[in-house]
Amino acid sequence: MDKISLVVPCFNEQDNIVPFYDAILKVFDDIPAAFELMFVDDGSSDSTFERIQALHGKDDRVKCISFSRNFGKEAALFAGIRNVTGDCTVVIDADLQHPPLLIKEMYKLWKEGYQVVEGIKRDRGKESVIHGLFTKLFYRMISSAVKIDMANSSDYKLLDRKVTEELAKLKERNTFFRALSFWVGFKKTSVYYEVADRVSGHSKWSTRSLMKYAVKNVICFSYLPLHIISIVGIIFVLIALGIGIDAILSYFRNNAASGFPTIVFLMLIGFGGCLISLGIIGVYIAQIYDEVKKRPQYIIGRRIG
Ligand code: UDP
Ligand code: MG
Repeated sequence: MDKISLVVPCFNEQDNIVPFYDAILKVFDDIPAAFELMFVDDGSSDSTFERIQALHGKDDRVKCISFSRNFGKEAALFAGIRNVTGDCTVVIDADLQHPPLLIKEMYKLWKEGYQVVEGIKRDRGKESVIHGLFTKLFYRMISSAVKIDMANSSDYKLLDRKVTEELAKLKERNTFFRALSFWVGFKKTSVYYEVADRVSGHSKWSTRSLMKYAVKNVICFSYLPLHIISIVGIIFVLIALGIGIDAILSYFRNNAASGFPTIVFLMLIGFGGCLISLGIIGVYIAQIYDEVKKRPQYIIGRRIG
């Protein structure tokens, strides 16, 4: 019999653990496969760990890796992926926003030979216009880097054992799971789902943390910001050349412009441009610094099962 591993990142999800477990049990009534439920407690400060421990007491298919502190969802996903034993792995949120019923369809597609089954959001749930614009820009950059349209992609997916093994081998610490699962290749297909409302608690994402997440991932996957700097630089050189030629011609025609405002304007734009460019380069260097330090992506404090 096939065994499906479920990787479930949890950060302060105490009230979702039991409803999530119940929902999974119900789904597996209809799936002819065994399962293991790998919760990854991402340094929760509530009783998430204790709730999981209690579940493990009555069902040893429930397992848990618990981090020494909050390392973030990416770290939790990768810790889960490195510790599963199933023939395939489903990565799913603990808050029931990813409808567990979809696992049935994902499993069916896996049986048909697909190695990566991506869950794609049919709509993006409740979001503001600005948020929508930023996500569009973000995904366009990432999509051009991985050469696949990633709009509406999510972290809800099924991965074959071969795929999780390859992902587990990656040595980078600043991971972006959603794009890396495209990047590794293999035979892919998609399933669509509606994002449900959270059962309990609230989203851990603030606008600030989302911005940081976006910048980090763009830098992980795209050199576009660096190319933009070069292109802007070239445009400036061309403009400078034009203005220079104009100045020389005016000089010979004896009508040199009294161009103080132009100079101030160009200097300010030039300085601004330099500083922004330095900032962008700085972010890449920071990321490189992070990687060369070779600190682990997460530290496991406790384990269950
Ligand atoms: N999560 C995590 N570590 C974090 C933040 C979130 O493991 O630092 C988990 C969280 O418990 C949930 C999933 O990641 O299972 C998605 O988080 P959330 O619901 O806050 O994000 P959203 O659904 O709003 O994108
Ligand atoms: Mg959620």
